[in-house]
Amino acid sequence: MTASPTTIAIPGLVRIKSGALEKLGVYCGRCGFGTVAVVVSSDVPSGIRESAEKALMAAGVRVAQWFNCAEADFEQARDIFVSLPGEVPAIIGLGGGRALDVAKYAAFLGRLPYIAVPTSLSNDGFCSPGASLSVAGCKRSLPAAMPFGVIIDTDVCLAAPEQLWLSGVGDLAAKLTAVRDWKLAFHTTGEPVNDFATLLSDATVFQFISRPVRDQEGVRLLGTSLMLNGIAMEICGSSRPASGSEHLISHALDRISARPRLHGLQVGVATYIVSRLQGGQTDTIRSLFEACGFLEAIRNDPFSRAEWIEAARLAPTIKKGFYTVLSSRDCVDEIRSMLEGDAVLAGCFTA
Ligand SMILES: [Zn+2]
Repeated sequence: MTASPTTIAIPGLVRIKSGALEKLGVYCGRCGFGTVAVVVSSDVPSGIRESAEKALMAAGVRVAQWFNCAEADFEQARDIFVSLPGEVPAIIGLGGGRALDVAKYAAFLGRLPYIAVPTSLSNDGFCSPGASLSVAGCKRSLPAAMPFGVIIDTDVCLAAPEQLWLSGVGDLAAKLTAVRDWKLAFHTTGEPVNDFATLLSDATVFQFISRPVRDQEGVRLLGTSLMLNGIAMEICGSSRPASGSEHLISHALDRISARPRLHGLQVGVATYIVSRLQGGQTDTIRSLFEACGFLEAIRNDPFSRAEWIEAARLAPTIKKGFYTVLSSRDCVDEIRSMLEGDAVLAGCFTA
């Protein structure tokens, strides 16, 4: 830990409430953005795009250009940056994770303020200091800047498919095991831990656990928790408070699985498994998942056991020098027996 003061960037504009999308133009205008460029997910429901368009127009905010985005590609972010009209002072990302990562990175390249408007809460990427993009076909986590603003319309996110909500819950639960892995790394390798980042990360999960219900208030809590977790990453300058061995298993699955699933669904199941390897918090994670119907959703479309065992083997090699419980011993056999015999996971894996 260095003694020098750290400069951190946090979003100054935050609205997490019902009807926030209708006021998007008002928020932009108040910040002095009379013109914007909007990067929008190509699969965002047309009503959402129309609402955003109407809201901007009503407040006199001109959209210099709309960019449709289907894939989270570095190349697309670069092309958007290159073709940005010169007078644009800010970029809005509207839609799911891919469009938001592309918008965030295009804004980062142009050193422009970026406003994230997620239409679902499937992971913590909407307010993190990095962008998850494919570079020449390989998935990479690229350093970027924190958003200037975060606008979450709870009506819009509540109307998104339940799977996306559950994915967000899984990605949030991961913070418990991630923080534990970080502390394990400190005790084993001496890797410095930022105490405030761990406290904030932990607090975000428990804030949501106190009321894990899929309704307006639940969406507000999940959105706030995921956003604050992004700030924990910004505080310590690494993804450690948000991502540990459970993310390594999910990254491994993304590489080898015939059909990778939503990030947070993979991460959530891996979180339960890793908590057992770490020897703590398993009951908290199980209760959270039971309350949300998380494992029920997995049972409706089970994972491949063979792929998960392969992922468990590959996971410790994914990130060089990143110490987790998976580095502490060979965990493959322990994971195999959990997949076969753990009652909580029953039905979550194909034979
Ligand atoms: Zn994640």
